[in-house]
Amino acid sequence: RAKEEGRNGYRFYTEEMGIQVRERMTIDNSLHRALERNEFELYYQPKFDLSSLRVVGMEALIRWNHPQLGRVSPLDFIPMAEERGFISEIGKWVLEEACRFTARLMAAQGQELKVSVNLSARQVQEGLLIRHVVEALERSALTPGSLELELTETAMIANLAASADVFTELKSLGVSLAVDDFGTGYSGLAYLGQLPFDVLKLDRSFINQKEKNGLGNRKIIRAFIRMAQSLNLSVVAEGVETSEILSFLREVGCNEAQGYLFSRPLPADEFETFIATHEARLLVL
Ligand code: C2E
Ligand code: MG
Ligand code: MG
Ligand code: MG
Repeated sequence: RAKEEGRNGYRFYTEEMGIQVRERMTIDNSLHRALERNEFELYYQPKFDLSSLRVVGMEALIRWNHPQLGRVSPLDFIPMAEERGFISEIGKWVLEEACRFTARLMAAQGQELKVSVNLSARQVQEGLLIRHVVEALERSALTPGSLELELTETAMIANLAASADVFTELKSLGVSLAVDDFGTGYSGLAYLGQLPFDVLKLDRSFINQKEKNGLGNRKIIRAFIRMAQSLNLSVVAEGVETSEILSFLREVGCNEAQGYLFSRPLPADEFETFIATHEARLLVL
């Protein structure tokens, strides 16, 4: 329940506080050993081109298989990893794992794919990011064009001045940059024209809003898509759960989409099977 309500790192506990505090302490105590114990895992959620409905890439989403707590959501440990100063190390592992997996999968399937990796604001500020990206690309021999980095709108706005150079440098490596969870924060498109971003990801909170006045919502989605595209940004809708919203997004020219309608995030081996068989499934979508 608490997980369901987690947004942008803020959580509203409905459970007994004592349990939460104990869980938090367990997480805190074991987080620094999780990397060396190999407890992290990447899941992959496929991303679809909306004109062809073909898979064009995937988002890498971290999972922590905790020996006592079971699977821990990134919403629960990423903020703590940031506080504790572990986020760069974890982020480095995510980059390497995602690049290695993608390079191998592209070779095995003979297909172009772009992998999206989430960054936390702290990673951008801590100064090791560029080196970690370069190393991950070199070690995996993945083409830079097959790597996309996602940063939330809120994280970006928070340190715009300090991060502008990092974004420019990342772009010069040939990777692409995406604004994640767009529409939940400041929602100003003007600054996007000044930054070297390529992709805008519309937040799922207003993609799958189930409200009476769904039409107003659709007008906003349409307006965001138009403005983003006029700034030469490609638009990705996240959290697509129904075929109604999918039809609408295709109608208004949204470029790409991901969501439970297509697939949940999958463990690496299941994702590979998904990729290998998706052409056949196109017929039933
Ligand atoms: P995000 O980057 O916005 O990722 C999308 C989230 O929406 C994922 O949650 C995904 O499982 C979920 N999702 C996808 N499709 C649907 C749908 O149709 N309906 C609904 N209700 N949800 C959907 P997840 O995997 O729990 O990740 C939560 C957040 O944790 C991510 O949000 C991202 O901000 C952060 N995160 C995940 N992996 C990493 C990582 O490797 N590094 C960092 N720094 N943050 C990460
Ligand atoms: Mg993301
Ligand atoms: Mg998102
Ligand atoms: Mg999110």
